[in-house]
Amino acid sequence: MAHRVTLIPGDGIGPEVTRAAQLVAAATGVSIEWEVVEAGEAAIRASGTPLPDAVLDSVRKNKVALKGPITTPIGGGFRSVNVALRQQLDLYASVRPARSIAGEGTRYPETDLIVVREATEGLYSGVEHWVDRDHTAAETVNVITRKASDRICKFGFDLARREGRHHVTGVHKANIMKTTGALFQTAFREMAAKYPGLQADERLIDNMCMQLVKKPSEYDVIITTNLMGDILSDLCAGLAGGLGIAPGALYGDTLAVFEPVHGSAPKYAGQDKADPVAEILCIELMLRHLGEKEAADRVFRAVWETVLEKKVVTYDLALPGYTDRPVPASTCSAMAKEIARKVPLVDLSRPLPRPGPAAGPGPVDAALEA
Ligand code: NAD
Repeated sequence: MAHRVTLIPGDGIGPEVTRAAQLVAAATGVSIEWEVVEAGEAAIRASGTPLPDAVLDSVRKNKVALKGPITTPIGGGFRSVNVALRQQLDLYASVRPARSIAGEGTRYPETDLIVVREATEGLYSGVEHWVDRDHTAAETVNVITRKASDRICKFGFDLARREGRHHVTGVHKANIMKTTGALFQTAFREMAAKYPGLQADERLIDNMCMQLVKKPSEYDVIITTNLMGDILSDLCAGLAGGLGIAPGALYGDTLAVFEPVHGSAPKYAGQDKADPVAEILCIELMLRHLGEKEAADRVFRAVWETVLEKKVVTYDLALPGYTDRPVPASTCSAMAKEIARKVPLVDLSRPLPRPGPAAGPGPVDAALEA
């Protein structure tokens, strides 16, 4: 029986990378019926609202969605569709794996960690206002509840156990934020005590950023609040090779929406230039969620081999300074076709090569120092 999946193409590069992901999904042979609904700028043009009820209804009905990135106007305009979608569907767990793919595009080829971010409250709750009429002061409220902190910590520890991970780090700023920070910290500590098989520790967010840039291989699963997780997951995407290869998933109790870490990159929209890998790896995560393990393994292996071969890769994986031998950049659609071509051919019995040891500062650093 076909899986019914909601498809939200999104804005900017969204339609291009979701098309690429659909091509790769089709190559697995898994039967998927896509129900396409528009959110963001296309929805405003069609119906005057960025998040029509039809989008929420479709995800509630199908329970699984693939989403492209959606633009949010800066400093005004409509509220973030991404934040609204997470809140209205109670997609409370944002899971963002940062895995180096064959060590490409990074000087941290050993990176393999997962950021688990609370996605419904914190500083993204939307509780904010101007303090005075002249708009010289403003307040944004950091809403942290025990219920949401408990469930994201439980989700993170369960995920660590399921995935065979060993080490869970809780990230907060409880030294300065004595109420919200301490509430999250207490929830983390009490949950950690229920998982004696997992090593648990804590970091303040500022120290965490420094530690990650120095030694990402020492971290395994990170659990944190909304804004901190948003920033950390972009940082970790950068450690693993860039936003072009970083997939993500949003989970509620019964719903799951798969979306890349990256945004709509408007400057590349319509140019067939964006890296499709992040959205294609969302297909891998989605297939695992749907119980299609072999198809998911094929997608990951095909991505891995394409990136490693470096014959058909987009500009971000072909940049001089990031590869030992610069190669001509391919288009988004060409890279997707190459990955799709490999999907039925890959040999799953061959183990994936482990990422090598840290390469140390590469030619990019040398160029900066010169
Ligand atoms: P961005 O992720 O769109 O782009 C940041 C940088 O990464 C840019 O240099 C871009 O060119 C590059 N990049 C991103 N995706 C890439 C890809 N697939 N291949 C190659 N390069 C890629 O972030 P931004 O510029 O800060 O935001 C643009 C818009 O996206 C904003 O409106 C923002 O609100 C929105 N956004 C949406 C989501 C989401 O839908 N979940 C997430 C983040 C940002």
